[in-house]
Amino acid sequence: MSKPSSAAIYARISSDTTGEGLGVQRQLEDCRKLAADRGWQVAEEYVDNDISAYSGKIRPAYQRMLQDMAAGLRDAVIMYNSDRLTRQPIELEEFIRVCDQAGIEQVASVSADFNIGTDDGLFNLRIMAAFAAKESGRKSARQKRQIQQRAEAGLPGGGSTRPFGYEPDKITIRESEATIVRSLVDRFLAGESTRSLAIWLNDSGIPTSSGTARWASQTVRGMLRGPRLAGLRVHQGAIIGKGIWQPIISEEVHARILAEFDKRKTSQHRAPRRYLLSGMLRCGNCGAKLNSAAKHSATRSETRRYVCTADPRTGGCGRLTVVAAPVEEWLTEAVLYRLDSPDLAAALTGQAHEDAERDALMEELQADRAQKDELARMWANREIASADWKSAREPIEVRIAATERRLHQMQGTEGVAQIAGTGDEIRASWASLNLERQSAIIKALLDFATIKPGKRGAQSLDPSRVVPTWRL
Ligand SMILES: [Zn+2]
Repeated sequence: MSKPSSAAIYARISSDTTGEGLGVQRQLEDCRKLAADRGWQVAEEYVDNDISAYSGKIRPAYQRMLQDMAAGLRDAVIMYNSDRLTRQPIELEEFIRVCDQAGIEQVASVSADFNIGTDDGLFNLRIMAAFAAKESGRKSARQKRQIQQRAEAGLPGGGSTRPFGYEPDKITIRESEATIVRSLVDRFLAGESTRSLAIWLNDSGIPTSSGTARWASQTVRGMLRGPRLAGLRVHQGAIIGKGIWQPIISEEVHARILAEFDKRKTSQHRAPRRYLLSGMLRCGNCGAKLNSAAKHSATRSETRRYVCTADPRTGGCGRLTVVAAPVEEWLTEAVLYRLDSPDLAAALTGQAHEDAERDALMEELQADRAQKDELARMWANREIASADWKSAREPIEVRIAATERRLHQMQGTEGVAQIAGTGDEIRASWASLNLERQSAIIKALLDFATIKPGKRGAQSLDPSRVVPTWRL
């Protein structure tokens, strides 16, 4: 293997100061020394400050490094420790894929080397990442207590994005936006749909608080339903008291908004959907689609599952079962992560080409149909004989059928373009979305996922059993 000539060094300081909180400077020095010892040339150092990889927050330097890697600008990666790189196994898979596509095999850390060109190296890196995720989980027990204390004190919670209507301190009202909120509330209570309000916001050029995402009906819904507007603090889905910020609407108006949502919900007569991934899972033994099924235990408690049903018509083998909840959680997380990944942006760019192809196909289709009509007209006018008409018509009909098939295969992706890059936002409001909407978001990205057979009696889901095939 030749010596890397444009290696990347990655360093990150985590927000956890209680642990082995190593300064970035120290990490960088150790990494530089490692590079020098091996004669690797470093092209760039990527440093993220004070952001835990586990929190799922976007790390700008890390993203930039991935982009440079994907663009073929880096030929090796050095980090202090593999837990500096990723703390979520899903993120690691993304990293490995970028390495794989860019042909990067040498990934070194001060404590261990991973030749990810080999199965052993890959395995080790994965194990380290899984272990780091567990460590972080433990660490977050402390963080959870802190979050609870903040909530009880009525301090604002939530992520890095400020709530619409408030300044970044999440306490002071931003009057220009609060006016908009009040008018949204009035219009909603007057019967306007959240969808129509979202369209109005976009058409009026009013930016969301993140400034990047467009308004979706669900964003409006989440904001209007949220007790925050009435100055109420929510913790783990329940109102626990008054927040220290100023309310934009009264508690009475908040209650009317909820009642209005309930009223609209009950007027839609649709059977509630209970399985998020219906139709999207396949059996790893036989390839058949998995069916949803609930298993009732003696105590009448119920476990939702996806199963391969033995059926000669579908070829189902009947030998695979997976508990629904963990697969749903894992794939949801994978989809939300993917929404923010550079890969998706690239796929969407590629989609522009497909749009061009679609236009070309539509033109062909119209030309063929016009020619077919013209032939019929000539036959009707007795300009050509029946036999000639038939033989001239056949190849055109074959072409039309092929074009129609191809057009049918092309999936519309307008929806994805709208939600791309909003994984964090959607994650924050995920629980408030209904199952139809959640399912639609997953379907927009996921073609299907294959569930591989698991070990008998395993207590938890082994994520490597789930193999997603992305639509985009
Ligand atoms: Zn099967």
